[in-house]
Amino acid sequence: MAFQAQPYNGDMTRTLFPALLAAVTWAACLSCPMFAQTPLPTASAADRELARSILKELIEINTTDTPRGNVTTATAAMRKRLLDAGFAPQDVQLLGPDPRKENLVVRMRAEGTPRQKPVLFLCHMDVVEALKSDWSTDPFQLVEKDGYYYGRGTQDMKDGDAALVTTFLRLHREGYKPKRDLILALTADEEGGRFDGAQWLVEQHRELVDAAFVINPDAGGVELRDGKAVVAAVEATEKVYSDFQVTAVNRGGHSSLPRPDNAIYELTAALNKLAAYTFPFELNEVTRAFFSKLAGQETGETAVDMRAILANPPDMAAAARLIAEPSFNSNFRTTCVATRLNAGVANNALPQTAQAIVNCRIFPGHSPEGIRKQLIGIFADDKLTVKYVSDAGEVSGTAPELKAIDPPAPIAEVFGPLTRLTQDIWPGIPETTVMENGASDSIYFAQAGIPCYGYSAIALELDDDRAHGRDERLPVDSYWKSLDFFYSFAKALGGE
Ligand SMILES: [Zn+2]
Repeated sequence: MAFQAQPYNGDMTRTLFPALLAAVTWAACLSCPMFAQTPLPTASAADRELARSILKELIEINTTDTPRGNVTTATAAMRKRLLDAGFAPQDVQLLGPDPRKENLVVRMRAEGTPRQKPVLFLCHMDVVEALKSDWSTDPFQLVEKDGYYYGRGTQDMKDGDAALVTTFLRLHREGYKPKRDLILALTADEEGGRFDGAQWLVEQHRELVDAAFVINPDAGGVELRDGKAVVAAVEATEKVYSDFQVTAVNRGGHSSLPRPDNAIYELTAALNKLAAYTFPFELNEVTRAFFSKLAGQETGETAVDMRAILANPPDMAAAARLIAEPSFNSNFRTTCVATRLNAGVANNALPQTAQAIVNCRIFPGHSPEGIRKQLIGIFADDKLTVKYVSDAGEVSGTAPELKAIDPPAPIAEVFGPLTRLTQDIWPGIPETTVMENGASDSIYFAQAGIPCYGYSAIALELDDDRAHGRDERLPVDSYWKSLDFFYSFAKALGGE
C-alpha cells in the first residue's frame, strides 16, 4: 500500500525563530546605528475601514482544501474589487488548473518601458481547516474582541492578502505609477491540496509572475516579548521539502520457516544506516550572516563555536557541539529522517513488502534527484528501491532535478527600504535574515532562480503564534502597522 504524502508546508514558519530567541538577547541593530525618522504615511480611517472590510470578506469565505472550501470564491471577490476600482481586465487575471482553485494575478503596470524586472508579492489564499466546535468564536467569522481580530487566516495569511489588496487599491486610487511592474499573486493550496497555485503559476505561466525578486508575507515578521519588539526576522532562503519512499520486497512465506532474507530486516538495516549518517556541513550567504550576527550576541563557548564554524576551513568539532540545538543542525545541512513505516500483512506470514517514508529538507543548491541518489548510496543495498513522492502523493522512479538557488547576499534595493520602514515602525529593533528549515511557496520561485524574501511586517508575541491552531487571532494594531509598511514598501520597491 502506498503511503499518503504529507501535505506540503504544514509546518512552514517559525521553526527557527523560537530557538533563536531562546538563545539570544539582541542588543541593537548593527547595520543601522542612526535612523532618520521620517514620519511614515499612515492609512486614513477610510483606508483602515477598507482593509478591515477586505479582511472580513476573506475570513468569511472558507478557503480550506475541503468540500466546504473554495479558493476561487475568494480570488474572484478580490478580482471584482479591483475591477470595480478601475483596474484593466487584462491586468487582473483569474486562472488555475481547477475551477475551485483559481489564482488571481494582479499587475500594476509601470509607466513607459520599465528598465527593471517586476516585483512579485506572493500571498496564499487558502487556510487550514478549523472546526467551530474547537473554537471560542466561529472561525469563519471575523470577530473583533479585546484589540484582536479572531478568525481562521488572521495570522496565516489573510492578513497579508488583505493588506496587499488594500495597498494595490490605494496606490491605484492615488494614481501612483511605478517605474517597474508590481505584481500581486493570490494563490491556492499552499497549506495542502493538489493544486499549489504558486508552483502552477511559475511553471505554467512564468510570463505572468516573472520577477526580479519575490516578497512573501507568509514568513518572517516581528517578534514581541511582553509587548516589546525584540527582533525583525526576514526569511532570505529556505530548504526544499522532499519525500522518498524506500521499499524492500520479498517472496514472503510461512513465518514458521524464516530465512535470512527478510524485507523488514533489509529495510530497517537501511534506515539504521541513515540514522548513523550525517549530511555534509554547509554554509551559504544567509546562514553565514545569521551565525556571524548570532556569535556577536552570544557569550562563552557558544560564541566561540559559532565563530569557529565560520572559519576557513570550518571547525567541525565546534559544529558538532552546536548541533545539540536541532534548529542549528537543520541550518547546517540537508537532513533526511524516517517518518513512516509500513510492512507485512499478517502476524504469521513473512513480510512481502516493507516500506518507509524518508522526509528530507534539502539545503539550497542541491536537487531532490541528487539527494535520492545519495540515499541509494547510503543504503548500499540494491535490493531496495528509493522513489520520489510528490506533494500530490504521486510516486516516481526519479526526483526533480530543480535546485533552490544558492541565495544571493541580501539585495540592497529590498533591504534598504525594508530596514528603514521597519525602523520607522519599531525603532531600534535588530533585524536578521534567516534560512527557514521548513518551507513555503517561496521555494518554487527559488527553484526557478528567483530570490525570495519572507516578511509579514506583523508583530506577534512569541507565545501567541496560533497559525493552524485554535482561536487564531491578529492584534488589530499589528494589522494597521503592516498596512502602513506594505504601502510604503510597495512604493519604495516600485520607485517613488
Ligand atoms: Zn501560510
